[in-house]
Amino acid sequence: MLAIHPCDLASRDILDRVYLREPVDPYYESRRKNLFLIVLNCTRCDEYCFCNTFGTGPRATEGFDIAITMVGEKLIFEAGSDRGMEMIGKIGLDIASREDVERAREAVDTLARTMGKAFNIMRVEKDMKGSLFSSIWNRLGERCIACGSCSLVCPTCFCFNIVDGIEDDLETRYRERIWTSCLLYEFSEVALGGHFRREVASRIRQFMNHKLNYWIDQFGVYGCVGCGRCIENCPAEIDIRKVALEAGGCIVR
Ligand code: SF4
Ligand code: SF4
Repeated sequence: MLAIHPCDLASRDILDRVYLREPVDPYYESRRKNLFLIVLNCTRCDEYCFCNTFGTGPRATEGFDIAITMVGEKLIFEAGSDRGMEMIGKIGLDIASREDVERAREAVDTLARTMGKAFNIMRVEKDMKGSLFSSIWNRLGERCIACGSCSLVCPTCFCFNIVDGIEDDLETRYRERIWTSCLLYEFSEVALGGHFRREVASRIRQFMNHKLNYWIDQFGVYGCVGCGRCIENCPAEIDIRKVALEAGGCIVR
């Protein structure tokens, strides 16, 4: 993969915790082990980015083969693995000057300082737990149209469904894995007309809590890397950063 953002690299590590634990997903594993990862450290961002909140950006610190930082017209390459070092050797690059390396470091640090922190991750899990029965969810449920765009663009969302089908010839059968989302009505349907989350409010609560609360219990990390795509793509202008802050107002400290 070429020039992915540090937050996307971090999401890959989060997905590993899902797909590489027992039983290992062989399809994910085979693609994962063949990845050669070239990360582009961020020196600018948009209004939706908040990777600095989770420390998942704007600089990639590990897990890449090559990291690139743009400084003016120059590209500073850094090897993160033996394969990355080998690749850089084959390209035959000039050795970066100490000044350029320092400028590259400062450019990323400046962005981190500018971005600041959207909320306190030392507290947000507790805040979310304390807000489970808050009126926030009903209010968000009235705005959310349950389109699923937020999880469609989220690099850490991993839910899928397995469906069986038959081709037009009415003989060839197939089984396939398809994307799905906890925001969609069908996601929580069960047999005999049962449903675990009929109300949109309960679905948006699930999405937000999975990212900022349940993931810690399940996998020991947050399920959000602060990429901001769910914010940018939500037609109802629901902002996970504001939800995290609002959840903090729902508990007695
Ligand atoms: S993108 Fe916005 S409106 Fe659509 S399901 Fe997600 S939160 Fe709801
Ligand atoms: S900001 Fe939104 S889209 Fe990005 S990782 Fe977090 S929940 Fe997913």
